[in-house]
Amino acid sequence: MARFLSNARRPVHLGRFPLETLKRTPDLPDLSGVPATRQLSFDRKDDPESIVNAMRDHQAVMDAIRGGFVNTSKSTCPDDPLERANHIKAFCHFADAAMVGVARLPAQSLLEQPFRNSDIDRLAHTLKTQQTKTLASGIDMVMADLRESMEAPSKSIAAHSHALVILIEHQRDPRDDERGADWIRNAQDHRGCLLASEIAIVLANYIRLLGWDAQAHTQSTSDVCLNQLAVASGLAAMQDGALVNPFVGSRFTIAVVTTEFEMQTDLPLAPSSGDKPLIKRSALAENPFENRDFAEGGHPFETLRRVAKPTTYIDEDRVARVPKRADMFARAQFGEMGKRLQDSAKGGHYVRKAAPSFAQRRLLGAFTLLQDGEPAPDRQTSDPQRNADNLKTVSYFLGADAVGLSACPDWTWYSHDALGAPIVPEHDQAVSMIIDQGFETMEGASGDDWIAVSQSMRAYLRFSLIGGVIAKQLRNLGYKAKAHTVMDGEVLQPPLLLLAGLGEVSRIGEVILNPFLGPRLKSGAVTTDMPMAHDQPIDFGLQKFCESCNKCARECPSGAITAGPKLMFNGYEIWKSDSQKCTTYRVTQPGGAMCGRCMKTCPWNLEGLFIEKPFRWAAMNMPSAAPLLAWLDDALDKGTINPVKKWWWDLELGEDGGYHPTPTPVNHRELQKDLDLKYEDQTLAVYPANLAPHPYAYPFPMNRDQGIEAYQAMITAEAYQKRLEAGQT
Ligand code: SF4
Ligand code: SF4
Repeated sequence: MARFLSNARRPVHLGRFPLETLKRTPDLPDLSGVPATRQLSFDRKDDPESIVNAMRDHQAVMDAIRGGFVNTSKSTCPDDPLERANHIKAFCHFADAAMVGVARLPAQSLLEQPFRNSDIDRLAHTLKTQQTKTLASGIDMVMADLRESMEAPSKSIAAHSHALVILIEHQRDPRDDERGADWIRNAQDHRGCLLASEIAIVLANYIRLLGWDAQAHTQSTSDVCLNQLAVASGLAAMQDGALVNPFVGSRFTIAVVTTEFEMQTDLPLAPSSGDKPLIKRSALAENPFENRDFAEGGHPFETLRRVAKPTTYIDEDRVARVPKRADMFARAQFGEMGKRLQDSAKGGHYVRKAAPSFAQRRLLGAFTLLQDGEPAPDRQTSDPQRNADNLKTVSYFLGADAVGLSACPDWTWYSHDALGAPIVPEHDQAVSMIIDQGFETMEGASGDDWIAVSQSMRAYLRFSLIGGVIAKQLRNLGYKAKAHTVMDGEVLQPPLLLLAGLGEVSRIGEVILNPFLGPRLKSGAVTTDMPMAHDQPIDFGLQKFCESCNKCARECPSGAITAGPKLMFNGYEIWKSDSQKCTTYRVTQPGGAMCGRCMKTCPWNLEGLFIEKPFRWAAMNMPSAAPLLAWLDDALDKGTINPVKKWWWDLELGEDGGYHPTPTPVNHRELQKDLDLKYEDQTLAVYPANLAPHPYAYPFPMNRDQGIEAYQAMITAEAYQKRLEAGQT
């Protein structure tokens, strides 16, 4: 829901809650009275519909890789303990921690009897015997990493001096009569544990990649008392025998990273006497679900105009299914776009070259092991409306930003998987989800600097977790289900997003733009055969808006976005971009890692403020105002960089394997308001189905001249339909 206050002047490391306003004490309180951390079990056999059962394997995978390899080349990161603490805290907030604190690790917080998630052993046994069906290439590496981590003895944390403490706030409890709340009852601790673990596992990996040892501790596997560390780091205090946070009371879950990485510590909270009331939440920390059902989502999706068909034409009978091998990143790896691109794409160098994204990559890889599987033998819950309400509720409860349900027609599937095997669609239903890439960090970025790749990976990782858990839930309920992630997906997500009413086609090309999140998003889908009520496509006037605006095309550093009209490509009407140019830039550009500048500069990239409502209303309801709104966006300098929000370090992977200040100038872009980009001056290429590669894992020549000719041969949807009527297609 819209906020009144902007947080434009608040640095990212401070987070949404004003912890800096709390009274502190220099003395560490007596920790002996702090209640011991209770180990969580994810086994809910007595409640087979509970989402907790479906979280079990994901929690085990995270616990299995809470430690690991420490980079032997120490990185050249700042020495200042305060700068280090601010950086690490900002990374946690970027990953959606509610609050973060740092403490010196007190010896008494080490548990005499550490607890370990027993599901790890069960999972290790399953993985050892499992024959994975259609997992993406690189899966052997992922499995080897996971098995090694599972079998490795827990590293001693005796040398760790500091504790990074991550707090996840609990959601509102579902009301007794709330529709769609059947699966999420009594799951607050487990949801909190899952989300806090994701952040702690990534941050521990990040610190190890920088060259310092670190280990994550969760409520299911820990060597330390999480509650004591919450007190030591100033995130909670004892009040009448209970652990209380001044803003959220006892409704929170903690995860911790212990490390030898020196950081400035926070002071504990000053003791309070009596039953102190909670501090009123500030506008920055409002919960969108306070007065809305979870099934409705956190934005007023119910206000959008629904239509029978997407606002762009799809010739469903003639959509050309293509093999996964046609993906430009696959083509880059096979050397079909040149040696330079191949070298940069090999082994995912564009992800490894920045430490934050490489830290996220390991968990993303591990989750691929869980995204598919066999369903339980007995089917439950066949009511389509009840299923739809439960699916939406659980997705929003776990943190998806927008969810839509639709059919999953055969034409939305790739023709062949990554290894060249034909794909036979087995699921006819899809749960599509959108994950916001995050406004704050986007504000501090140029869109193509050293955080760009991590912005994408953060959203991909969040979907892999949420989508993976939901796919498992559906299988637990007796239905086939698979999460289609960036690592291993068999469906094209843009058409599913259109069918599910999550957005419209935008000028950016394959990016579907959502009216509340703009283009600042990544998507994922869970396909299944569970019956569910569907959403309808939406029409919020974007076609007219993009016709009057070409800011993304003007600002694209590679010139990949068309300044011209929508054209027919493989059966879809879209503003077809030059994916070859975009991929080449993203993979090889030296001033950062990857790119999302088109998302950053789009006028629909909004903070979610009340003051933005007139813009959104006019854009949706007054098509003739689109040129004025697009002009106004430029006049107000929207899409420029807000330096207050810059929190990441511009470090690049060096030849020694450490991360060091990049020798190349960092991308830092101003708006190109004076550039008058003309369609007739652009030379764009496309590779439609007739130019697509074979489906197999060996090279296939790519001819850009043919691609340019193919672009010039594309026609508008009107001309295409006329040809159809004349029987010419
Ligand atoms: Fe960057 Fe590609 Fe977007 Fe252009 S189209 S701004 S290269 S991500
Ligand atoms: Fe459409 Fe303008 Fe956004 Fe591009 S920048 S997607 S043209 S609204």
